[in-house]
Amino acid sequence: MPKQSSTKKTSTDSKARKSSKRGATRTSKSVQHVYSFGPSGADGDREMKHVLGGKGANLAEMCNLGLPVPPGFTISTDVCTHYYANGRTFPKTLERDVEAALALVEREVGKKLGDKRDPLLVSVRSGARVSMPGMMDTVLNLGLNDDTVEGLARASGNPRFAWDAYRRFVNMYADVVLGLKAKSESHQCPFREAFDLKKRSRNVREDSELTPTDLKEVVTEYKRLVKERTGKAFPSDPREQLWGAIGAVFRSWQNERAIAYRSMNHIPSAWGTAVSVCSMVFGNLGADSGTGVAFTRDPSTGEKRFYGEYLMNAQGEDVVAGLRTPHPISTLEASAPAAWKELNRIVQLLEGHYRDMQDIEFTIERGRLWMLQCRNGKRTGFAAVKIAVDLVKEKMISKEEALMRVEPTALDQLLQPVFDPSELDDARKDGRFLTKALNAGPGAASGRIAFSPSEAVLRKERGESVVLVRIETSPDDILGMKASSGILTARGGMTSHAALVARQMGKVCVAGASELEIDYAHRTLVVGKWTLSEGDWISIDGSTGEVFAGKLGTQSSDVCAVLLEGAKPRKGSIYKAFDELLGWADKARTLNVRANADQPDQCLNAVRFGAEGVGLCRTEHMFFAPGKIEAVREMILAETTAERVHALKKLLPLQRADFEGIFRAMAPRPVTIRSLDPPLHEFLPHDEPSIWAIARDLGIAPEKVHAKVEALREQNPMLGLRGCRLGIVYPEITIMQARAIFEAACSVAKSTKKKPRLEIMIPLVGAKKELDLQADVVRTVAEEVFGEMKIEVPFLVGTMIELPRAALTAGEIAKTAEFFSFGTNDLTQTTFGISRDDGGKFLPHYIEAEIHSDDPFATLDRDGVGRLMRIATEEGRAARPGLKVGICGEHGGDPRSIEFCHELGLDYVSCSPFRVPLARLAAAQAALRKRG
Ligand code: PEP
Ligand code: MG
Repeated sequence: MPKQSSTKKTSTDSKARKSSKRGATRTSKSVQHVYSFGPSGADGDREMKHVLGGKGANLAEMCNLGLPVPPGFTISTDVCTHYYANGRTFPKTLERDVEAALALVEREVGKKLGDKRDPLLVSVRSGARVSMPGMMDTVLNLGLNDDTVEGLARASGNPRFAWDAYRRFVNMYADVVLGLKAKSESHQCPFREAFDLKKRSRNVREDSELTPTDLKEVVTEYKRLVKERTGKAFPSDPREQLWGAIGAVFRSWQNERAIAYRSMNHIPSAWGTAVSVCSMVFGNLGADSGTGVAFTRDPSTGEKRFYGEYLMNAQGEDVVAGLRTPHPISTLEASAPAAWKELNRIVQLLEGHYRDMQDIEFTIERGRLWMLQCRNGKRTGFAAVKIAVDLVKEKMISKEEALMRVEPTALDQLLQPVFDPSELDDARKDGRFLTKALNAGPGAASGRIAFSPSEAVLRKERGESVVLVRIETSPDDILGMKASSGILTARGGMTSHAALVARQMGKVCVAGASELEIDYAHRTLVVGKWTLSEGDWISIDGSTGEVFAGKLGTQSSDVCAVLLEGAKPRKGSIYKAFDELLGWADKARTLNVRANADQPDQCLNAVRFGAEGVGLCRTEHMFFAPGKIEAVREMILAETTAERVHALKKLLPLQRADFEGIFRAMAPRPVTIRSLDPPLHEFLPHDEPSIWAIARDLGIAPEKVHAKVEALREQNPMLGLRGCRLGIVYPEITIMQARAIFEAACSVAKSTKKKPRLEIMIPLVGAKKELDLQADVVRTVAEEVFGEMKIEVPFLVGTMIELPRAALTAGEIAKTAEFFSFGTNDLTQTTFGISRDDGGKFLPHYIEAEIHSDDPFATLDRDGVGRLMRIATEEGRAARPGLKVGICGEHGGDPRSIEFCHELGLDYVSCSPFRVPLARLAAAQAALRKRG
C-alpha cells in the first residue's frame, strides 16, 4: 500500500509541474490549490480524484482526450480541508490563484466576468472524491446582474434567454448561498411559488411561454423576496457572487444530507469536496439548444443500450432536478442530428476509455455539443452484476476487475422478493391499478404512504413499512428515503438525483408518475377515481413502474426462485449473470464461507447459496419450537438433578431429530454446533397467564413457577449464568446435548454413508479450565455413543472467543481447543462494555459525533476488537499449529469485516444464509485487494 500511495504522489507532482506549463494557477513554491482545464489541455487527470474530486478529475481527463469541455478551473479538496481546519477561511494565496485561473478562462472563452457588453457566466459546482449525487450544492449562471443581463440579452440576441438565466441565477444563489428555502418540507420553495403564480397570472402552462417582460418581473419579485427574508439586497458584484458561491459549495460538504449520505456510504468527512468553476454553455438558447443526462447502459437493468433523457431549450437542472419530465434520448436525433452523432461517438469513446458504464451530462448550445461531466454511473445491484459480467464477455475488463466492480451489498437486491403475480392479477381485476410510470429502481414495495421524509422516519420508527410519496424528490429527502421501502414521485425522470440515489440505496423507486395529484397540505394523493391519504397502503413495482392501491403479497426473486425453489431461469433472468460472477468469486477467494443455521431447511438454503458448512448452529433456537419448550421449562424448573435428568430425557429424542435433519442436509460438510448459551430465564414466561399455564401443565403450584422465575432473575443476564457456565453448573445439559449430537451423527453416517463432520463448540469461555471441563464431558459422551452404535464420526471440540480474557489467554486455551470461532457480537459487547441490546439508544449519536466511524456491532472495530482477534489468532496458532479459526458473529456477513478476517488469515466466515452470496463476493474482493 505505501508503495501505491507514493506512486500516486509522483503522478500528482508531475501533474502539478504540468500545471505550471498552463501557467496561470500557481506561483513558484506555493502549494497548488487551483487547477485549470480547457481546450489546450488540463493540469490534472482522472487519477487525481483525491485532489480534484471526481468531477474535476474527469473534466480534466475529457480535456486531455480532446473532447469539447467548456474551460474552467478546479479548487482542490485541500482547500476544503483548510477551510474547515481554519475557522472557515481560505488559504491566503487562493484569491490570487483563482484570479489567475479566471483570467485564463476569460482569455480562452473571449469574455470577461462582469463585462456589461458580453459577460462571461460561470457555474460553481461541487465534486467529492466519490460522487455524492445531489448531496452538495451548485450555482449556475453566476455573473449576472441588472447590467450584465442586458449585455447577455444583446450579445445572444435573445432577451428571453438572458432574463430566464437571470431569474434562475437569483433563485439558485438565494437558495444555496443565502439559505432562502421552503418554510418546511410540506411547503413549496418560495421562488417556485412566485414563478408558478406568474405562469397562472399569464395563463400559460410551459415556462417557455413567459415573455422577457414577465421574466424581468419575476426577477424583481425574487429580489424583493431576498431583501424581505434576508434584510439585504441581492449581491450584484460578480466577484462577490463568485466568492459567495465558492464558500457555499465548500459549506455544503457539511450540510445535513451530505453528512447523512457520507455516513450511509462510509465516506470520511476528512476527504472534503473540490469546487469546479466552469464557463457556462447554454441549453436554453432556443430550439437548437438543449441539455441532457445519459448512461452508456441502462442503470436499472444493465442492458446494453444508450439510455438517457434530455430537454430542448432547457438548462441541466431542469433534467436532474425533475422539474420537467424529459424525453428519452433516442428521440434526440430528430431534434439535433449533428450533436446526436457527436454524442454517440463520444459516449462510446468514454465507455471504452474508462472501461465502465458512464453517466454523462451534456449541453447543446446552438447545435454544438459540450460535455459537462462524465463519471462511472450509479447503478442498481441488478445492473452492477449484469454490466460487470457483460464487460468481461466484451473483453473490456478481466474477471478480477468484474469482481471488484460489484458492491457486495448490492447482491441483496437480487434476493429481494417481487410481487406475487396472482396478487397483481387480482389487484388489476379489482381496479386497484393506479398508474404506470418510470421503473427507476427495481423490486417490489408495499407500504403505508408518507408524504414527507420526517413522516417516513416516524412511521419507520413505529415499525411500519413505508412508501415515501413526493411531488418531486429532492436530495434533502435522503433520511426519509432511507426509512422507506419504496419511493414514488409524480415528477422527475430516471436520472433525477433522487432516482440515482434510490437506485444506489437499493430502494424500490417509481418516478415521474405525472397522473398523481399530490396535495401536501391535505396529505392526499388523487389519481383517477382514487383518493389515498397518508397512512393508506400503496404498492409500487420498481421493475415495471406500476402502482397499485393497497397491499400486495410478494414472492421470491428470480435468483431465489432458481436457487431455492428449483425453477428454471427465465429468459433474460439475472440469475445467469449472478451465478457466473459468484463462480468467479469462488475461484478468487481463499476464505471459506459458512452459514449460521439451526434448522434443516435453513441449512439446505445455505448450501444452495453456496455455503461450505455451518459455522454456527445455535442449539437454543431449536428449544423454542412447540412440543419442545415445555420439556425445556420442565428442565429449568427442576429442583433436583434427578428431576432435571428426567426432563432432559424428554428433550434428547427431540434434539436428536433436529440434528439428524441438519446433518443430512450438510454431510460431509462441517457443522459447528454450539452447546446451550443463553441465560435460562429467557425460556421462562414472565406474564401471569403463561405462568399459570406452565404450572398447570407441570402439575405444580403457580407460586413455585413464580419463585423460580424470581430466582433466575439476574441484574446483568448477559454477564450472568450463561454460556459454558450453564454446562459447568449443570453438566447434565451438556451431556444430553452431546448425546443427541453424536447419536444423530452416527445414525446419519449409517443411513447415508456420508459422515457428518462435527465441530462441537463451547460458548463464552474465559478460562482454559472451563473448556477442559466441558470438552471432557463431550469426549466422554462421544466414546460412549461410538461404542453403543458401533460407528465413529470425526469431531473436534473447540470454543468461541467472545471474551477479552479468552482472546488474551488464547495460547493456553488452544492447548485444549481444536478450533476457535470468534463470537464478535459478544466480543464487541465485552470489549467496549456496551450492551448489545441497549447500544442502539446512543450509538447513532456516537457515530454522528464521529466518536466511532461505524457501529461496532455492524462493522468490526479493527483497533480494539480486531486487535484482540489478532492476538488470539496468532497465539492460538502458535500453541496449536494449523488451528482452525473462523468467525460467526454478525460481522461475518459484513464486507469490510470480511476483508479484515481475510487479512487476519482466518479460515472461514459464517453468516446468515441470505448473506452467503455477499460473503463469497466480499471474500473474493479481499483476496484480490491483498494480491494488489
Ligand atoms: C456472538 O456472540 O458473536 C455469537 C455468535 O453468539 P450469540 O450472538 O448467539 O451470542
Ligand atoms: Mg455470543
